Amino acid sequence: MGSWKEYSVVKTLDEAVHKLSTAIEPVKIIAGGTDLLLEIQQGHQPIVHTLIDVNNIDEMKCLEVRGQRLFIGAAVAVSKITNSPLVKQHALAVSEATGLIGGPQVRNAATIGGNVAHALPAADGMISLVAMDTQAVIYKDKSFVEVPIMSLFKGPGQSTLEKTEILVGFYFNLKQPGEASAFDRVMRPQGVALPILNNAIWIKRNRNIIEDIRIVFGPSGPVPTRAERVEEVLKGYAMEQSYIDLAKKTLRETVKFRTSKMRATAAYRYELADLLLERVLKKAWERTEEV
Ligand SMILES: Cc1cc2nc3c(=O)[nH]c(=O)nc-3n(C[C@H](O)[C@H](O)[C@H](O)COP(=O)(O)OP(=O)(O)OC[C@H]3O[C@@H](n4cnc5c(N)ncnc54)[C@H](O)[C@@H]3O)c2cc1C
Repeated sequence: MGSWKEYSVVKTLDEAVHKLSTAIEPVKIIAGGTDLLLEIQQGHQPIVHTLIDVNNIDEMKCLEVRGQRLFIGAAVAVSKITNSPLVKQHALAVSEATGLIGGPQVRNAATIGGNVAHALPAADGMISLVAMDTQAVIYKDKSFVEVPIMSLFKGPGQSTLEKTEILVGFYFNLKQPGEASAFDRVMRPQGVALPILNNAIWIKRNRNIIEDIRIVFGPSGPVPTRAERVEEVLKGYAMEQSYIDLAKKTLRETVKFRTSKMRATAAYRYELADLLLERVLKKAWERTEEV
Protein backbone atom coordinates (compact mmCIF):
# COMPACT_ATOMS: atom_id res chain seq x y z
CA MET A 1 0.00 0.00 0.00
CA GLY A 2 1.29 3.52 -0.85
CA SER A 3 1.91 6.21 1.73
CA TRP A 4 -0.86 8.44 0.32
CA LYS A 5 -3.87 8.33 -2.05
CA GLU A 6 -4.00 11.87 -3.47
CA TYR A 7 -1.16 14.30 -4.14
CA SER A 8 -2.01 17.91 -4.80
CA VAL A 9 0.47 20.56 -5.97
CA VAL A 10 -0.71 24.07 -5.09
CA LYS A 11 0.55 27.43 -6.35
CA THR A 12 -0.87 29.86 -3.78
CA LEU A 13 -1.31 29.99 -0.04
CA ASP A 14 -5.09 30.39 -0.40
CA GLU A 15 -5.24 27.30 -2.58
CA ALA A 16 -3.20 25.40 0.01
CA VAL A 17 -5.52 26.50 2.84
CA HIS A 18 -8.60 25.59 0.77
CA LYS A 19 -7.22 22.10 0.07
CA LEU A 20 -6.17 21.62 3.68
CA SER A 21 -9.73 22.38 4.81
CA THR A 22 -11.62 20.43 2.14
CA ALA A 23 -9.45 17.48 1.04
CA ILE A 24 -10.21 13.97 2.23
CA GLU A 25 -8.58 13.35 5.65
CA PRO A 26 -6.02 12.61 6.85
CA VAL A 27 -4.38 15.50 5.05
CA LYS A 28 -0.80 16.77 5.50
CA ILE A 29 1.45 19.45 4.03
CA ILE A 30 4.48 18.04 2.26
CA ALA A 31 7.61 20.01 1.32
CA GLY A 32 10.77 17.94 0.69
CA GLY A 33 9.18 14.84 2.19
CA THR A 34 12.48 13.75 3.77
CA ASP A 35 10.92 13.52 7.24
CA LEU A 36 7.28 12.92 6.45
CA LEU A 37 7.55 10.09 3.94
CA LEU A 38 10.05 8.17 6.05
CA GLU A 39 7.85 8.54 9.11
CA ILE A 40 4.82 7.22 7.24
CA GLN A 41 6.83 4.33 5.77
CA GLN A 42 8.26 3.46 9.20
CA GLY A 43 4.82 3.61 10.83
CA HIS A 44 5.60 6.62 13.05
CA GLN A 45 2.85 8.60 11.26
CA PRO A 46 -0.50 7.24 10.12
CA ILE A 47 -0.95 6.78 6.37
CA VAL A 48 -2.19 10.03 4.85
CA HIS A 49 -4.99 10.28 2.34
CA THR A 50 -4.03 13.65 0.84
CA LEU A 51 -0.66 15.35 0.58
CA ILE A 52 -0.56 19.07 -0.23
CA ASP A 53 2.75 19.98 -1.88
CA VAL A 54 3.75 23.58 -1.02
CA ASN A 55 7.01 23.74 -2.99
CA ASN A 56 5.58 25.91 -5.78
CA ILE A 57 4.26 28.80 -3.73
CA ASP A 58 6.36 31.83 -4.79
CA GLU A 59 6.45 33.57 -1.38
CA MET A 60 7.76 30.38 0.23
CA LYS A 61 10.65 30.09 -2.25
CA CYS A 62 12.10 33.60 -1.69
CA LEU A 63 15.42 34.28 -0.03
CA GLU A 64 16.07 38.01 0.03
CA VAL A 65 16.82 41.11 2.08
CA ARG A 66 13.65 42.97 3.09
CA GLY A 67 14.37 46.24 4.85
CA GLN A 68 16.71 45.55 7.77
CA ARG A 69 15.96 41.81 7.78
CA LEU A 70 16.74 38.68 5.80
CA PHE A 71 13.73 36.62 4.70
CA ILE A 72 14.10 32.89 4.04
CA GLY A 73 11.01 31.16 2.62
CA ALA A 74 9.93 27.95 4.31
CA ALA A 75 10.13 25.99 1.04
CA VAL A 76 13.75 26.98 0.31
CA ALA A 77 15.91 23.85 0.09
CA VAL A 78 18.56 23.67 2.79
CA SER A 79 21.33 23.32 0.14
CA LYS A 80 20.31 26.70 -1.27
CA ILE A 81 20.49 28.24 2.21
CA THR A 82 23.94 26.78 2.86
CA ASN A 83 25.32 28.23 -0.35
CA SER A 84 23.54 31.58 -0.24
CA PRO A 85 26.02 34.52 -0.04
CA LEU A 86 23.35 36.49 1.86
CA VAL A 87 23.03 33.79 4.52
CA LYS A 88 26.81 33.48 4.77
CA GLN A 89 27.10 37.23 5.21
CA HIS A 90 24.34 37.67 7.80
CA ALA A 91 23.99 34.33 9.59
CA LEU A 92 26.96 32.04 9.17
CA ALA A 93 25.49 29.75 11.87
CA VAL A 94 22.50 29.05 9.62
CA SER A 95 24.73 28.32 6.63
CA GLU A 96 26.87 25.98 8.75
CA ALA A 97 23.91 24.20 10.32
CA THR A 98 22.04 23.58 7.07
CA GLY A 99 25.29 22.45 5.42
CA LEU A 100 25.53 19.58 7.91
CA ILE A 101 22.01 18.20 7.40
CA GLY A 102 22.07 14.68 5.90
CA GLY A 103 23.94 14.22 2.62
CA PRO A 104 23.73 16.19 -0.65
CA GLN A 105 20.57 14.43 -1.87
CA VAL A 106 18.76 15.11 1.40
CA ARG A 107 19.92 18.74 1.43
CA ASN A 108 18.59 19.30 -2.10
CA ALA A 109 15.13 18.04 -1.17
CA ALA A 110 14.80 19.02 2.51
CA THR A 111 13.39 22.47 3.25
CA ILE A 112 14.05 24.75 6.20
CA GLY A 113 10.29 24.97 6.84
CA GLY A 114 10.08 21.18 7.20
CA ASN A 115 13.09 21.18 9.53
CA VAL A 116 11.29 23.64 11.81
CA ALA A 117 7.70 22.35 11.44
CA HIS A 118 8.77 18.82 12.33
CA ALA A 119 9.67 20.27 15.75
CA LEU A 120 12.47 17.89 16.70
CA PRO A 121 14.50 19.50 19.51
CA ALA A 122 17.84 18.67 17.85
CA ALA A 123 17.04 19.74 14.26
CA ASP A 124 20.16 21.54 13.08
CA GLY A 125 18.62 24.27 10.90
CA MET A 126 15.98 25.05 13.50
CA ILE A 127 18.53 25.37 16.36
CA SER A 128 20.55 27.88 14.30
CA LEU A 129 17.41 29.92 13.59
CA VAL A 130 16.60 30.04 17.31
CA ALA A 131 20.07 31.49 17.97
CA MET A 132 19.34 34.18 15.36
CA ASP A 133 16.20 35.21 17.33
CA THR A 134 14.13 34.43 14.29
CA GLN A 135 10.54 35.47 13.72
CA ALA A 136 8.44 32.90 11.88
CA VAL A 137 5.75 33.96 9.42
CA ILE A 138 2.56 31.91 9.45
CA TYR A 139 -0.30 32.17 6.96
CA LYS A 140 -3.38 32.03 9.14
CA ASP A 141 -6.97 33.15 8.55
CA LYS A 142 -5.93 34.78 5.24
CA SER A 143 -3.24 36.93 6.93
CA PHE A 144 0.49 36.76 7.50
CA VAL A 145 1.23 36.57 11.22
CA GLU A 146 4.72 36.95 12.71
CA VAL A 147 5.56 34.99 15.85
CA PRO A 148 8.81 34.21 17.67
CA ILE A 149 10.14 30.90 16.38
CA MET A 150 10.14 29.50 19.93
CA SER A 151 6.34 29.73 20.05
CA LEU A 152 6.05 27.08 17.30
CA PHE A 153 7.01 24.15 19.53
CA LYS A 154 4.75 22.08 21.78
CA GLY A 155 6.84 18.94 22.34
CA PRO A 156 9.18 16.57 20.52
CA GLY A 157 7.80 16.22 16.97
CA GLN A 158 4.80 18.41 17.81
CA SER A 159 4.42 21.95 16.55
CA THR A 160 1.77 24.44 17.61
CA LEU A 161 0.68 24.91 13.97
CA GLU A 162 -3.00 24.18 13.38
CA LYS A 163 -4.17 22.08 10.45
CA THR A 164 -4.76 25.00 8.08
CA GLU A 165 -1.81 27.12 9.22
CA ILE A 166 1.16 27.23 6.87
CA LEU A 167 4.68 28.19 7.81
CA VAL A 168 5.61 30.71 5.13
CA GLY A 169 9.14 31.73 6.11
CA PHE A 170 11.53 33.28 8.58
CA TYR A 171 12.93 36.74 9.32
CA PHE A 172 16.03 37.67 11.27
CA ASN A 173 17.99 40.92 11.53
CA LEU A 174 20.83 41.68 9.16
CA LYS A 175 24.28 41.41 10.74
CA GLN A 176 25.53 44.65 12.31
CA PRO A 177 29.15 45.61 13.08
CA GLY A 178 30.45 43.57 16.03
CA GLU A 179 27.93 40.75 15.53
CA ALA A 180 28.62 37.18 14.40
CA SER A 181 27.28 33.64 14.74
CA ALA A 182 28.57 30.07 14.62
CA PHE A 183 27.27 26.49 14.75
CA ASP A 184 28.79 23.09 15.34
CA ARG A 185 27.61 19.63 16.31
CA VAL A 186 28.75 16.13 17.25
CA MET A 187 27.34 13.15 15.34
CA ARG A 188 27.63 9.45 16.03
CA PRO A 189 30.42 8.11 13.77
CA GLN A 190 27.91 6.28 11.53
CA GLY A 191 25.17 8.81 12.06
CA VAL A 192 23.27 10.22 9.11
CA ALA A 193 20.38 11.98 10.80
CA LEU A 194 20.09 14.09 13.94
CA PRO A 195 23.21 14.84 16.02
CA ILE A 196 24.09 13.72 19.54
CA LEU A 197 24.37 17.39 20.39
CA ASN A 198 24.52 20.65 18.50
CA ASN A 199 25.17 24.23 19.52
CA ALA A 200 24.46 27.57 17.86
CA ILE A 201 25.66 30.92 19.21
CA TRP A 202 24.97 34.50 18.16
CA ILE A 203 27.19 37.12 19.75
CA LYS A 204 27.55 40.91 19.84
CA ARG A 205 30.93 42.34 20.73
CA ASN A 206 31.85 45.75 22.10
CA ARG A 207 35.65 46.04 22.24
CA ASN A 208 36.73 43.12 24.45
CA ILE A 209 33.29 42.69 26.02
CA ILE A 210 30.47 40.32 25.09
CA GLU A 211 27.71 42.90 24.90
CA ASP A 212 24.96 40.41 24.07
CA ILE A 213 24.75 36.68 23.37
CA ARG A 214 22.27 33.92 22.53
CA ILE A 215 23.18 30.28 23.14
CA VAL A 216 21.12 27.26 22.07
CA PHE A 217 21.86 23.56 22.47
CA GLY A 218 19.87 20.81 20.77
CA PRO A 219 18.50 18.62 22.20
CA SER A 220 18.20 20.16 25.65
CA GLY A 221 14.57 19.50 26.50
CA PRO A 222 11.33 18.61 24.76
CA VAL A 223 11.34 21.94 22.91
CA PRO A 224 14.27 24.16 21.89
CA THR A 225 15.41 26.28 24.80
CA ARG A 226 17.98 29.05 25.12
CA ALA A 227 20.68 28.47 27.74
CA GLU A 228 19.73 31.77 29.37
CA ARG A 229 21.63 31.33 32.64
CA VAL A 230 24.80 30.64 30.65
CA GLU A 231 24.14 33.73 28.54
CA GLU A 232 23.86 35.79 31.76
CA VAL A 233 27.27 34.59 32.95
CA LEU A 234 28.91 35.81 29.75
CA LYS A 235 26.90 38.94 28.96
CA GLY A 236 28.71 42.15 29.88
CA TYR A 237 32.02 40.44 30.61
CA ALA A 238 35.32 40.12 28.79
CA MET A 239 35.96 37.19 26.48
CA GLU A 240 38.40 35.51 28.87
CA GLN A 241 39.02 31.90 29.85
CA SER A 242 37.84 32.43 33.44
CA TYR A 243 34.38 33.47 32.19
CA ILE A 244 34.27 30.61 29.69
CA ASP A 245 35.00 28.20 32.56
CA LEU A 246 32.27 29.78 34.65
CA ALA A 247 29.88 29.49 31.71
CA LYS A 248 30.68 25.77 31.42
CA LYS A 249 30.01 25.28 35.12
CA THR A 250 26.69 27.12 34.80
CA LEU A 251 25.83 25.00 31.76
CA ARG A 252 26.29 21.84 33.81
CA GLU A 253 24.18 23.23 36.63
CA THR A 254 21.30 24.73 34.66
CA VAL A 255 20.85 22.94 31.33
CA LYS A 256 19.16 19.54 31.34
CA PHE A 257 20.54 16.98 28.90
CA ARG A 258 18.93 13.56 28.90
CA THR A 259 19.92 10.03 27.99
CA SER A 260 18.45 8.85 24.71
CA LYS A 261 18.50 5.19 23.69
CA MET A 262 19.63 5.79 20.12
CA ARG A 263 22.20 8.54 20.62
CA ALA A 264 23.97 9.13 23.94
CA THR A 265 23.86 9.17 27.71
CA ALA A 266 23.22 12.41 29.53
CA ALA A 267 26.73 12.20 31.05
CA TYR A 268 28.30 12.00 27.60
CA ARG A 269 26.19 14.94 26.42
CA TYR A 270 27.48 17.06 29.34
CA GLU A 271 31.06 16.27 28.29
CA LEU A 272 30.28 17.26 24.70
CA ALA A 273 28.43 20.39 25.79
CA ASP A 274 31.61 21.63 27.52
CA LEU A 275 33.62 21.13 24.36
CA LEU A 276 31.01 22.57 22.02
CA LEU A 277 30.36 25.65 24.14
CA GLU A 278 34.03 26.66 24.16
CA ARG A 279 34.56 25.79 20.49
CA VAL A 280 31.47 27.56 19.14
CA LEU A 281 31.88 30.56 21.44
CA LYS A 282 35.47 31.11 20.30
CA LYS A 283 34.51 30.58 16.65
CA ALA A 284 31.71 33.16 16.88
CA TRP A 285 33.97 35.62 18.74
CA GLU A 286 36.78 35.31 16.19
CA ARG A 287 34.28 36.25 13.50
CA THR A 288 33.34 39.52 15.16
CA GLU A 289 35.25 42.61 14.19
CA GLU A 290 36.31 45.03 16.90
CA VAL A 291 33.93 47.99 17.15
C1 LIG B 1 19.06 10.51 5.61
C2 LIG B 1 18.57 11.72 6.37
C3 LIG B 1 19.45 12.48 7.09
C4 LIG B 1 19.00 13.59 7.80
N1 LIG B 1 19.91 14.32 8.51
C5 LIG B 1 19.51 15.38 9.23
C6 LIG B 1 20.44 16.13 9.99
O1 LIG B 1 21.63 15.84 10.01
N2 LIG B 1 19.97 17.19 10.69
C7 LIG B 1 18.64 17.56 10.69
O2 LIG B 1 18.28 18.54 11.32
N3 LIG B 1 17.73 16.86 9.98
C8 LIG B 1 18.13 15.77 9.27
N4 LIG B 1 17.22 15.05 8.55
C9 LIG B 1 15.80 15.41 8.65
C10 LIG B 1 15.21 16.23 7.46
O3 LIG B 1 15.93 16.14 6.29
C11 LIG B 1 14.95 17.67 7.83
O4 LIG B 1 14.23 17.82 9.02
C12 LIG B 1 14.22 18.41 6.68
O5 LIG B 1 14.65 19.74 6.76
C13 LIG B 1 12.69 18.36 6.69
O6 LIG B 1 12.20 19.15 5.61
P1 LIG B 1 11.27 18.56 4.48
O7 LIG B 1 11.02 19.65 3.52
O8 LIG B 1 11.79 17.29 3.92
O9 LIG B 1 9.97 18.28 5.38
P2 LIG B 1 8.77 17.26 5.10
O10 LIG B 1 9.23 15.88 5.34
O11 LIG B 1 8.11 17.56 3.80
O12 LIG B 1 7.79 17.73 6.28
C14 LIG B 1 8.13 17.55 7.63
C15 LIG B 1 6.94 17.98 8.50
O13 LIG B 1 6.76 19.38 8.42
C16 LIG B 1 5.45 19.71 7.90
N5 LIG B 1 5.68 20.86 7.03
C17 LIG B 1 6.61 20.95 6.04
N6 LIG B 1 6.61 22.19 5.51
C18 LIG B 1 5.65 22.89 6.18
C19 LIG B 1 5.18 24.24 6.09
N7 LIG B 1 5.70 25.13 5.22
N8 LIG B 1 4.19 24.63 6.93
C20 LIG B 1 3.67 23.75 7.84
N9 LIG B 1 4.07 22.47 7.97
C21 LIG B 1 5.06 22.05 7.15
C22 LIG B 1 4.97 18.45 7.19
O14 LIG B 1 3.55 18.36 7.18
C23 LIG B 1 5.61 17.37 8.06
O15 LIG B 1 4.82 17.17 9.22
C24 LIG B 1 17.63 13.94 7.80
C25 LIG B 1 16.74 13.17 7.03
C26 LIG B 1 17.19 12.08 6.33
C27 LIG B 1 16.21 11.28 5.52
